[in-house]
Amino acid sequence: MLKILVCPANHKNTYANGANEKGVMEALAPLLVNELDKYEGVIAHITKTYNSNGQYDGRPEEAKAAGVDLYLALHTNAFKGNETGACAFYHNDYPKTREVAAAFVKNLNAICPIKSNRAAPAIYAWNTSNWNFGELRVPASLGIAPVLVEHEFHDNLNGANWIVNNLPAIAKADAKAIAEAYGLKLKEETVVSPTPPASDTVEVNVSSGVKRIIINLC
Ligand SMILES: [Zn+2]
Repeated sequence: MLKILVCPANHKNTYANGANEKGVMEALAPLLVNELDKYEGVIAHITKTYNSNGQYDGRPEEAKAAGVDLYLALHTNAFKGNETGACAFYHNDYPKTREVAAAFVKNLNAICPIKSNRAAPAIYAWNTSNWNFGELRVPASLGIAPVLVEHEFHDNLNGANWIVNNLPAIAKADAKAIAEAYGLKLKEETVVSPTPPASDTVEVNVSSGVKRIIINLC
């Protein structure tokens, strides 16, 4: 069973449309958990840790205590106001995370009408010089595979509006990415419909001959 701690951004970066990253990612997180619940072999929980400093502090330790396999950080991106496309960050100590990151970028770019201007594959390994994100470093140091997803750039109006207006589709794409990377299958339909009657009336034999009785089958 793959256990995931879903960690929506805890910082209130303002979007070009006035939304903010914390609020939008906190709206995305439960949608993603619901989407993941459609797959076999995975259980996802949203972090309960919301440090007042607006950072991820305490979440890697929460992930460790919960014994999760994947620390998944949900973010949106900002640079100079005219960049586009999904990016994802992984950790070389956990080779699977590279695959997970690539699946995120692929599935997010597939549903976003804004063409990415990132250099493919738009996935980046954590390292001490360029991408020294604590949100990757700390979970990794505790033995947990980390992936950080920057879903799209929010510092331009098109990107910000697309994110805010497409959270259900984004959640689906995120879940699909995880499913592809880990080979998860959708749960089979477990509710079996009874065979419907041929008609909504039945004939019932009553002791003294045959009477036609109408029984309403709902
Ligand atoms: Zn962020």
